[in-house]
This record gives sequence, C-alpha cells and structure tokens, in this order.
Amino acid sequence: MVFLLTCSIYRFSINRALFLVNIKMELYLKESWSRIGISVSGGADSALLAYLICKNVSTTTEIHITSQIRCWRTRPWQEHFADGVIDWLKQKFNNKFYVHKNLVPPEMEEPNTTLIKDEYGKMKPGNRIILRSYNEFIANKYKLDALYAGVNMNPDIDIPGKVAERDEGHIAPHFVHNEVDICHPFVYTKKDWIIQQYYENNIVDLLNLTRSCEGEFEGLNYTTYTPGQHVPVCRECFWCKEREWAIEQAK
Ligand SMILES: [Zn+2]
Repeated sequence: MVFLLTCSIYRFSINRALFLVNIKMELYLKESWSRIGISVSGGADSALLAYLICKNVSTTTEIHITSQIRCWRTRPWQEHFADGVIDWLKQKFNNKFYVHKNLVPPEMEEPNTTLIKDEYGKMKPGNRIILRSYNEFIANKYKLDALYAGVNMNPDIDIPGKVAERDEGHIAPHFVHNEVDICHPFVYTKKDWIIQQYYENNIVDLLNLTRSCEGEFEGLNYTTYTPGQHVPVCRECFWCKEREWAIEQAK
C-alpha cells in the first residue's frame, strides 16, 4: 500500500540554489510487510508516525516499537512519556505490539561522548551508534521488514540550538540496509505539518501525551521524580520553541 499526503514545502535558499515545491510525504508501506519497527521517543514526530503506520496497515501486521531511554538521571520522565504514547497506540489499534526498550548511558550522550569508529568505519557519537545498532539488532532478531523513524526538518524560522543538518532533507527518506527497508517519511516535512495532522486526524489527545522539551530542572531528577507527576516545560530549548512555532502555524 502506498499512502500519499501532499506536503507543500516552499523553500528558497540562495546559498544552495535549492527550491523545493510540493514534496509529498510518502509512508512507503508495502502490503507484503508483516513486521514493522518504529522508533518511539515520546515526542510528537514519532507518535504521529506510529499513528499513521498503524492506521494504514492491516491488524495482522506486528508493530515493534523500539524505545530508547535517554538521560535517565536528569530527565527520568522521558521514558514515561514514551510509555504513554505506546499505551495510547495499544488502546487505539488491535495490532500485536512488541515493545523493545534500551538504555543509552548518559556518558554516551552528546556532548559527553567522543567520536567512536562504528562498524562501518564512520566516526560517530556514542549515542548514535547505540541507537542505530540497537535497531539493527531488533530488526535482525525479530525479522522485521522495515524500520521507521520520525526525523524531520527544521522550521522556517531560525531557532538557536537547532541541528544544522536538519535544514535540508539530510537523510534519504527510504533506502534498504541489511535487507531491511529504512524509512524516514518526515525527512522533508516540518513540525507545523506534523502538528496539523493531529488536528486533521482528530487525535489531539495523543498530541497532549507527547513531550518535546529537553530542558532539565533543578531539584527534579531521578532521585526526586515520581512517574506521572507534572513536569514543567522550559520554553527555552530548541524543541520547545519549535513546538510553539508549529502549534502557532497550525492554528
Ligand atoms: Zn524546553
């Protein structure tokens, strides 16, 4: 099954002489697939991606969610936001869900990590090696047909702290690696389009379960945090500002 949504991207960059118009978001789903892997972080991008995939596959398709626990000492709530999104999906869809959790040690997070040579000979930060390698392990172990991730583009406005490579479609939206289809359907879409889909699909309740903020708060950490308690947003980090911008655009 090929599922197309039109996403209009009007973008002009003098430096790169790049002009993109009407790039389509494609999910790349194939009817023959019976086991699909999706990286779910607890953020709005991967939650929407998981929703669109579940909505467009048969109920016999196995959904394998990989969930990486990040910054567990300083942002222990992140794991629970991902759990909330996964629980929502399980309630909404009748597919068989498998959840594969993995820990990324804080020492391996940027900027703490040094660059390490990965098994393909490229120098990468520790966390990126762990994320990629864990997904490859799960794909192999459970014989997945495809792996999905919700990586997307930077907003039209310049926000400090952005990942510069996300100014462009920096990863191929679809390729085959180790005989597994790797799909990044949102690589040419921006957060405003993603937020808009929550309204159009009437799933704002799912949006409200997601969290974008990567801020940390004094006195709130793994020793004091209780799962389910209210956690503020910082409104300062790139991810807060990107979400604010997107919600404003999508209104
Ligand atoms: Zn924030």
